[in-house]
Amino acid sequence: MRTPTTEAGPARGQTPRLDGKLETIRATLLRRNPGEEEFHQAVDDVLATVGPVAARRPEYAEAKLLERICEPERQIIFRVPWTDDRGEVHINRGYRVEFNSALGPYKGGLRFDRSVNASIMKFLGFEQVFKNALTGMPIGGAKGGADFDPKGRSDGEVMRFCQSFMTELHRHLGEHTDVPAGDIGVGQRELGYLFGQYKRITNRYESGVLTGKGLAWGGARVRREATGYGCAYFVAEMLAARGTSFDGRDVVVSGAGNVALSAIEKAQQLGGHVIACSDTSGYVHDPRGLDVELLTQVKEVERADLAEYARRRGDGARHVAGGSAWAVPCHVALPCATQNELSGADARRLVQGGVVAVAEGANMPCTPDAVRAFRDAGVAFGPGKAANAGGVATSALEMQQNASRDSWTFEHTERRLVEIMRDIHAACRDTAAEYGAPGDYAAGANIAGFVRVADAMLALGLI
Ligand code: NDP
Repeated sequence: MRTPTTEAGPARGQTPRLDGKLETIRATLLRRNPGEEEFHQAVDDVLATVGPVAARRPEYAEAKLLERICEPERQIIFRVPWTDDRGEVHINRGYRVEFNSALGPYKGGLRFDRSVNASIMKFLGFEQVFKNALTGMPIGGAKGGADFDPKGRSDGEVMRFCQSFMTELHRHLGEHTDVPAGDIGVGQRELGYLFGQYKRITNRYESGVLTGKGLAWGGARVRREATGYGCAYFVAEMLAARGTSFDGRDVVVSGAGNVALSAIEKAQQLGGHVIACSDTSGYVHDPRGLDVELLTQVKEVERADLAEYARRRGDGARHVAGGSAWAVPCHVALPCATQNELSGADARRLVQGGVVAVAEGANMPCTPDAVRAFRDAGVAFGPGKAANAGGVATSALEMQQNASRDSWTFEHTERRLVEIMRDIHAACRDTAAEYGAPGDYAAGANIAGFVRVADAMLALGLI
């Protein structure tokens, strides 16, 4: 396990120098959101790349679009009281940051994790606005969650927590208003309890109010796999753009949750040799290639840690307690665990080990220093806003199916996902080239997402 760093430094691989106007926006944001490091980091990342747009589109500055985009439309913070199995009372804090609805209803996951706070909610909500715009789907951006850790809790405790959480949150949701999904600590079990309580309180079977639902109760095929699959497809596009592929390449993935497991599976299907992954206990190095079925059984069904995987797999598989998966040299690195989990030192080590492509399955897993190291070394770098957008895009497909009371096949939905990831890759590549940063997918993602949201905001007037 590694402790995510909050390494100070400029935005994702860019120099911190901003022109006067952007610097003023940044200074004001820092003053108005003190101590919110992750939020500052996410905004810095965007400010460092949108300068060329501001120069070309003076109407954006006139309407103060950057300033408006950095301010959430609404932030909800609430008390979540619940009782554990022994009858002891607990109080957690719930959040929903409804960041931007210029393109559609607020959309973004719920995270249940001890680390959840206002800064993390705002950074995730902010990223979500750009990501959702990149998908080309009619969805705005939001994020929510609570500082509650479902790990080690019984199903009854998790249910009571979810019911209390939804009892407050339900008044802010609706298929045309705000549509949450899962994220860290919120899988199908939690979504089921949340949806059940929403249905009970509102007396409406409103399938479109949550995505990532189970197939038996309004869910869509491929949603569970979409973020990890999409990330692997994005890498395949980046590699193809360089005239190569996954074939025979060593791949390391961090995390062993929803995103990581699907990324491992798809990377293998595309010809990659996935040799390591991690969780909060450390990492497992399995030179024969990870056995996804066993991993899924250990992590998803039994909720055990990777030491158990190594024990059962035997034959060369090694669990390193407390270690970082980035110690394992590879050609393709897919950080799929959490924010700021891949540091500059990790990146330099990966570069030395021959990494050629990195794609963020998680949100902002690479520190600014790491992104800079990848960029300086000419590594193809897919930022989370683009590389993990397949999840939310497939959520939008789930909303489409709910609205039309339809249910698509796995094959049809996956084909749509492939097209969407291809389009996102092309949008990032072409926009980066258009704005003088060829090959810089991070700049391309920021600019393309920003322009889509900014144009819609301009059209809607000063609201
Ligand atoms: P999960 O809770 O399913 O999985 C997270 C995994 O990461 C777990 O295996 C956890 O270990 C591991 N982990 C957490 N912190 C660390 C760390 N510091 N070092 C190593 N491993 C760690 O979450 P998801 O897979 O849903 O989400 C992962 C990331 O992907 C998040 O950043 C999320 O915001 C992002 N994302 C998720 C989407 C989705 O559709 N779910 C969509 C887009 C982005 P353990 O098992 O021990 O808890």
